[in-house]
Amino acid sequence: MRVYNFSPGPATLPESVLIKIQSEFLNYHNLGASIVEISHRSKDFLKVMEDCKNKLGEYLFSDAKGQYEILFLQGGASINFFMIPMNLLKKGKADYIETGSWAKKAIKEATRYGEVNVVASSADKNFSYIPKLEASDFSPDAKYLYLCSNNTIYGTQYHDFPTVSGKYKVGDFSSDILSRKLDLTDFGIVFAGAQKNLAPAGVAIVAIRKDVLAECEEDLPTMCSYKAIAAHNSQFNTSPVFPIYVMNHVLDWIAEQGGISQIEANNRKKAEILYSTLDDLELYCPTANFEDRSLMNVTFVLSKEELTQKFLDEAAKNHFVGLKGHRSVGGMRASIYNAFPLEGIEKFADFLKHFAENN
Ligand code: PMP
Repeated sequence: MRVYNFSPGPATLPESVLIKIQSEFLNYHNLGASIVEISHRSKDFLKVMEDCKNKLGEYLFSDAKGQYEILFLQGGASINFFMIPMNLLKKGKADYIETGSWAKKAIKEATRYGEVNVVASSADKNFSYIPKLEASDFSPDAKYLYLCSNNTIYGTQYHDFPTVSGKYKVGDFSSDILSRKLDLTDFGIVFAGAQKNLAPAGVAIVAIRKDVLAECEEDLPTMCSYKAIAAHNSQFNTSPVFPIYVMNHVLDWIAEQGGISQIEANNRKKAEILYSTLDDLELYCPTANFEDRSLMNVTFVLSKEELTQKFLDEAAKNHFVGLKGHRSVGGMRASIYNAFPLEGIEKFADFLKHFAENN
């Protein structure tokens, strides 16, 4: 049987997608070979990649999709922590918001390339909230404002992005990409590792606005240059074919669910059931600031901390796995990305009630 997999990433994928992949794996579209055995420059794979790009553009930017170039990179979301400043900072200044470990890593890399102004940080309360900012908090001469949309480890998420003028935003959307309907047109770069909402690990997507791409540095090592990657249609080297192929199916699955609006409605419902169950029972203490709670990663500890291992063991016996919190926070984290089924949340809510009653 399959378990209810709360893993933070790599994470659960839609079961129907896994079945589809299994059914076409040995003999893709009557080629007599699988998609991972043919050239990444074959027309069959190029079609998969083009389809994938079109759907991503549509879901992310709707009518503005023509303004963005979509790139596929290896090196994970993390490679963009240095590629963004390397391509765009040019020894200038950028504003960064420090909302957790992933933002901190991006800040560290950016300091190699220019002046980094950390405009706000929630480190004072172990990253349990999203700092509120006014227009006057930003540097007038910063090239961009960098933020992390969803803080996978701490369970916080932006529900409204800060407004900036005279600069564009850059966003790490690794753990909430395509989970809700957003207007992203004032983002110059939207990037994400694939392994939560899109595909298995092995590829990161970068959507870069064409005016921002035009500003990128020219003379960089080819593999580190957004311009070169775009000019080579993301194929300067061999494409990571498998995750791109799976992503293409996951994007079709999103359409089958009713598109991003329906995905968002499902995600809101799942998060609401889970948070309200945790809020109602004294044993559970959600750790994120109420108004900044993530719809994707639900973090909580037990008021009787000594029961943590027992909780995890009993959850596993009931087929709820992947719940251990990140090593830097402890406690529990239920990652409930797009593909996590509602039925699993309902059953988990029952488990939470029973465990609280018995302990
Ligand atoms: N940003 C966020 C928000 C993440 O959650 C992660 C991975 N968990 C990363 C960046 C790093 O992703 P990758 O491992 O693909 O480099």
